[in-house]
Amino acid sequence: MRLDKFLANTGFGSRKDVKKLLKTGFVTVNGQAVKDAQHHLDLEADKVEVRGELVEYREYIYLLMNKPAGVISATEDDRDQTVVDLLAPYHQRFNPFPVGRLDKDTEGLLLLTNDGQLAHQLLSPKKHVEKTYFASIDGEVTNEDIQAFKYGVLLDDGYQTKPGKLVILKAGKTSEIHLTITEGKFHQVKRMFASVGKKVIYLKRISMGPIHLDETLPLGEYRELTMDEIDLLK
Ligand code: URA
Repeated sequence: MRLDKFLANTGFGSRKDVKKLLKTGFVTVNGQAVKDAQHHLDLEADKVEVRGELVEYREYIYLLMNKPAGVISATEDDRDQTVVDLLAPYHQRFNPFPVGRLDKDTEGLLLLTNDGQLAHQLLSPKKHVEKTYFASIDGEVTNEDIQAFKYGVLLDDGYQTKPGKLVILKAGKTSEIHLTITEGKFHQVKRMFASVGKKVIYLKRISMGPIHLDETLPLGEYRELTMDEIDLLK
């Protein structure tokens, strides 16, 4: 692999940024400064360092964030802070994007990656990837709601949802539930509850496919997926 591609893939910016970096002489291959962008690397054997720090080869990053409310699931926004703004510059260099969207006021599990193929697989309606949400609902969630969701409900735009699995954790003036769905229509959970005359007052995603929210992550924090988690996704 060419040295400029290696550095671009490991988060050192565009090919142009990488050229500039190479000119500084701070990039060494096996201890020797190399300024030639086309220098061919043997990925198995060569040791690349930038300013004395070893660079491990990676093309893709996979991040698991505990999204806070008030932040947009997008890469940029004119007005609001985005989930990408919450990432460290090192991770931003890989140009990750959120895998699907959570509403601005929704919290919880959000995956970010620069692996377009994996994102596509997770979001493709054909794959029926399960997403589970915890929600607080204004009003009493009932067994009739469980039945209605089991068959799918009619949303305000006439769309008939696929079946959802509703579990009541607490029923009362305010109820708490888990809802598992395999689709990702705009505001889907809120609109499913609206279809049975109820309002979601708090929403948090707790899992997506085999990946669960890491409850030790404070809101707004994130970590890289482990190798095991990445394997589960593929
Ligand atoms: N359903 C919603 O209504 N909002 C979300 O953010 C995710 C699912």
